[in-house]
Amino acid sequence: MTTSAESSATTLSGTPVVPGVAAGPVLHVRGEVSPDAIARFGDGDFPDADAALGAYDEAVAAVADTFTSKAASAQGAAAEVLTASAGLARDKGLRSGVAKNLQAGQGPVAAVQGAVEQFVTIFTNMGGLMAERVTDLRDIERRVVAHLVGEPAPGVPTPSEPSILVAEDLAPSDTSGLDPELVTALVTERGGATSHTAIIARQLGIPCVVGAAGVMELPAGTFVVVDGETGTIEQGTDPDEARSRVEESHRLREELASWSGPASTSDGMPVKLLANVADGASAESAGGEPVQGVGLFRTELCFLDRKEEPSVEEQADIYARVLAPYSDGRYVVVRTLDAGSDKPIAFATHQGEENPALGVRGLRLSFDNPGLMERQLDGIAAAAERTGTETWVMAPMVATVAEAADFSAKVRARGLKAGVMVEIPSAALLAHRMLEVVDFLSIGTNDLTQYAMAADRMATDLAHLTDPWQPAVLQLIAITAHAGTEAGKPVGVCGEAAADPLLATALIGMGITSLSMAARAVRPVGAQLGRVTFETCEAAAEAALGAPDPMAARAAVRELLGH
Ligand code: PEP
Ligand code: MG
Repeated sequence: MTTSAESSATTLSGTPVVPGVAAGPVLHVRGEVSPDAIARFGDGDFPDADAALGAYDEAVAAVADTFTSKAASAQGAAAEVLTASAGLARDKGLRSGVAKNLQAGQGPVAAVQGAVEQFVTIFTNMGGLMAERVTDLRDIERRVVAHLVGEPAPGVPTPSEPSILVAEDLAPSDTSGLDPELVTALVTERGGATSHTAIIARQLGIPCVVGAAGVMELPAGTFVVVDGETGTIEQGTDPDEARSRVEESHRLREELASWSGPASTSDGMPVKLLANVADGASAESAGGEPVQGVGLFRTELCFLDRKEEPSVEEQADIYARVLAPYSDGRYVVVRTLDAGSDKPIAFATHQGEENPALGVRGLRLSFDNPGLMERQLDGIAAAAERTGTETWVMAPMVATVAEAADFSAKVRARGLKAGVMVEIPSAALLAHRMLEVVDFLSIGTNDLTQYAMAADRMATDLAHLTDPWQPAVLQLIAITAHAGTEAGKPVGVCGEAAADPLLATALIGMGITSLSMAARAVRPVGAQLGRVTFETCEAAAEAALGAPDPMAARAAVRELLGH
């Protein structure tokens, strides 16, 4: 804990991921069922094992129903995860484990904990995606036990006043349905810039700081000021000062909301701002924002629940819904399937890989299944023709120039513009040669950071490494942008880094020509760029590239921009 120079306030800090200032009492997400409640419940008061199993069934039904109703109000991947959790809660194998333990004379709480433990061991030994479901199993265990002993479900309590939500980390089941009027900022002890928490905070438009060590030790109800640009959580701030900072931040947010594009620096250098979309619905709503098109259509997200590969015709229908809102002269960058690793697709993903992030994902799926890509490209070309929308196509996870050339030939043969994503350091280092065979590059900073820093983007303990402000990541981006300037071809950024208004200035200064982000982030980024000259952007790039670490880089750019 450090003491700030200006006041007697004590300050914790973490990685700032969504800008803005909020103040209010700390509200903890409850991770565990209270041991007192479990002790009071003891073995319950059941006449026999069958009655205890009945109570288990009732608890499971309630827990599964909660997941299902949360899934109904969630979207995309979050809805998928919640539906899967409902299924896991009702799992027959888990129920027979509990029944066996009850028959053996255990109380219901011990019977549930024992059965879950057995499954945790099995899942952990299976590794890969199954191991990742251990968090879900633990979540189910806590919820079932809470229901049995008559405690409120662990997770996010309903705030009685606007509060700052503080958690070790947040799961999709915690964050779906949060009300930004009542939860005014998110702070987590773990989690990185690309974590689920960060994505949700950006959607809600509330300030967010992740990886803030020691924040869970703040007593519930402590009044804190959270600054999502500096990454600080202050205690002891004078309430009047806190109020005026929050008001200033709201005023700024309203000013940002009224920004209407098109984006350019204050001295008129145009910048393309684009949206990241997942399906027809998100493409339609993003189309109403001040964007010049879609910079990343993640096609795999349309197929998370599909067992079989959709036909070319069905794919064309799905893609046409995304392209149609942009037939007014804007353009859409479609990314071919990035199945595998964190986005398993039943009909494409290789099963049982030891290390799926370094395995057969993205473009690599076409090595032993070339038809998969050919059919997808046919579907995309058909949708482009039907809608008349300018369509660019890019491949994810490209490692070599030969892969880029091969992909480019297939796309150009269909009369479309061809590009590749720069997500692997090898592609950044060879950007100039990649640009000899493609029409554009798009930097996926989420994966580029993961692979440059050898730090799993999902690992909650490595937030300081999975940070796109890391000097090595910035260098790779600068190399790629420079290659684009030399070749006179577009080089965009479509990872979460593009949504950070501060970093956006440095990216434009490096020579990046487009920034693609969640639609919600477009206005803050556009407004920020409109306040600085291109020369200041270049100075921001130089300052960020020269800084020794991410926090110093942020501070240097903030100072340059007069924040
Ligand atoms: C990225 O890696 O930055 C990216 C945009 O792709 P995804 O997040 O879908 O892996
Ligand atoms: Mg990626």
